[in-house]
Amino acid sequence: MKNIKKILAVIMAGVLASAILAACGGSGSAAPATEAAGAAGGVLKMVTEATFPPYESYEGGEIVGIDVDIAKAIAEELGMTLEIEDMAFDSLIAAVQSGKADIAAAGMTVTEDRLKNVNFTEPYATGIQVIIVREDSDIKSLDDLAGKKIAVQTGTTGEIYAEDIEGAEIQSFTKATDAVLEVLNGKADAMMIDNEPAKAYVAANEGLKILEEEFAVEDYAIAIAKENTELLERINNALKNLKESGKLDEIVAKYITTEE
Ligand code: GLN
Repeated sequence: MKNIKKILAVIMAGVLASAILAACGGSGSAAPATEAAGAAGGVLKMVTEATFPPYESYEGGEIVGIDVDIAKAIAEELGMTLEIEDMAFDSLIAAVQSGKADIAAAGMTVTEDRLKNVNFTEPYATGIQVIIVREDSDIKSLDDLAGKKIAVQTGTTGEIYAEDIEGAEIQSFTKATDAVLEVLNGKADAMMIDNEPAKAYVAANEGLKILEEEFAVEDYAIAIAKENTELLERINNALKNLKESGKLDEIVAKYITTEE
């Protein structure tokens, strides 16, 4: 009898120890993000830049939006727990490359340049580049922007387009909100940004409008480290399921109403 108790005690100690180990591993604290993502039931670490409504923005201290809900749904499909960190948009690719994060989901456009450094999943949304001006502005199209002061968010495709405009003076901001304010306050003549955040900012700030001209159509996708091909495949599968089940449309419909 005594021996059985002793054996049980040893087994229990073993069970406890592995439970503690599992708990530590699960939190993903010290492990590189890429390793944590490899393990079933691990943490899926996402980085984003949360001044991009309705894809990601703060609502009472919490980051919410289409990208957050999609990433949550993907994590659920993979049996993982989603963790989100907010950082500058132009730091997102490096965060994924270094393994600081598993994915960057930030309304990020697939570009040739970014593809040199990271892989992208299948696209999950379309973004259109538009121009925000003050309501009383005489700027009517892209052509009128030559020589003007243009506010952009650092590292975005909006910034790249602005750089192509002849004689334009580019004012680059880490937060999209600050670029919007610059136009609102008359310090910049226009802002180049994606259509959905543009609509959100124009709705939230009186005195702004969006020009009719849509000058670039882009695909949004999730960025993943080049070497993390297994995660890329798993997320593409999860995205496919979310598209087929209608869940993706449901998430988008929660944030974007189609009536103008
Ligand atoms: N779609 C744009 C880009 O990828 C802007 C994204 C953003 O500001 N979050 O550059």
